[in-house]
Amino acid sequence: PGTGTGAPAADAIRVFVRVRPLSAREQAAGGAAARACVSVAQERAVVLADPAKAGQEPFVASFDHVFGPEAGQEELYAAVGSQMVDNCMAGFNSSIFVYGQTGAGKTHTITGDVSRAEDGALAEQCGLTLRVFRQLFDRITGEERDGVRYTVKCCYAEIYNEEITDLLNPGGCGLAIRDGDAHRGVFVEHLSEHMAVNADDVMRLIQKGSANRHTAATRMNERSSRSHSVFTAVVEAHERQPDSGVTNVRFAKLNLIDLAGGERVGKSGATGDQLTEAKSINKSLTTLGRVVTALTEGKSHVPYRDSRLTFLLKESLGGNSKTSLVACVSPSEESVQETFSTLVFAAGAK
Ligand code: ADP
Ligand code: MG
Repeated sequence: PGTGTGAPAADAIRVFVRVRPLSAREQAAGGAAARACVSVAQERAVVLADPAKAGQEPFVASFDHVFGPEAGQEELYAAVGSQMVDNCMAGFNSSIFVYGQTGAGKTHTITGDVSRAEDGALAEQCGLTLRVFRQLFDRITGEERDGVRYTVKCCYAEIYNEEITDLLNPGGCGLAIRDGDAHRGVFVEHLSEHMAVNADDVMRLIQKGSANRHTAATRMNERSSRSHSVFTAVVEAHERQPDSGVTNVRFAKLNLIDLAGGERVGKSGATGDQLTEAKSINKSLTTLGRVVTALTEGKSHVPYRDSRLTFLLKESLGGNSKTSLVACVSPSEESVQETFSTLVFAAGAK
């Protein structure tokens, strides 16, 4: 497991939409900002009514599931995240991407609140990542009783302007992606790896990495909205065959990816740094879209190498790996254009 290419299974890519509630700011602003233009039909379709196209049919697209503003974090985990744990235990690589404009709820969905509630439970607003690892470690503990030994190694990288930074080791930046190592496959050279033996270890790593992402944000005007973050865990299962005494090793990778904001940064007249940022975000998101399309259509050429993001995730996209995309949108009329382009991107991934 974990290797192999070829046509993806029909269900290799699942696409979800999450509509967040109107924010306090949108409500307070009143007018168009406070009016919702997105609704959910029968949990599978999203309906977008552009006020500028009054009198025309609304835009409708259907997905594996559409979550409305009332959907909580546990519901997202049950529908989107829990399968990742099953995949991992079965030896499949899997990835969850969150896509959408800045402020649409990507970080809330994939990371959320990574602190402990007072009773020691996960916080109610805890996002997908930690919920996945809590369940994964429960499963691992169960299997270890049957003599399988597991190791879980994590890393956390940020891709900004096509440059890779280690979020768990602030010294690590400008890192290179290497391919061709038969044992490791595609990997980031010098990216620090951290053993985790329980969900608390993962919690600390996410807290540390998110803090590093935020530090950069204050220095560089919302850098986190213009960068992708990739949390990766490699899960190795060592199983000793009772008859031969030979140890089998299976491994599976999990990736949780918080994509850069999909809005057209500096669409008109951007120069300098802004233009560089806009170009690299465009390149990686467009390439991601093309890779996903090539995979769903079973094309023989998949343009992994056209961006750092897709090259890094080459083994986790397609082949025998499972991918989920959660497109996050604001319901506000103010964001109707960005919501439309997010939905078009998501619909194209099916
Ligand atoms: P993004 O990462 O896409 O830029 P965030 O996840 O930071 O957006 O969300 C922006 C704000 O909206 C945050 O304050 C977040 O807590 C809030 N938010 C996002 N999605 C939801 C949701 N489904 N329910 C409640 N609050 C949300
Ligand atoms: Mg964010």
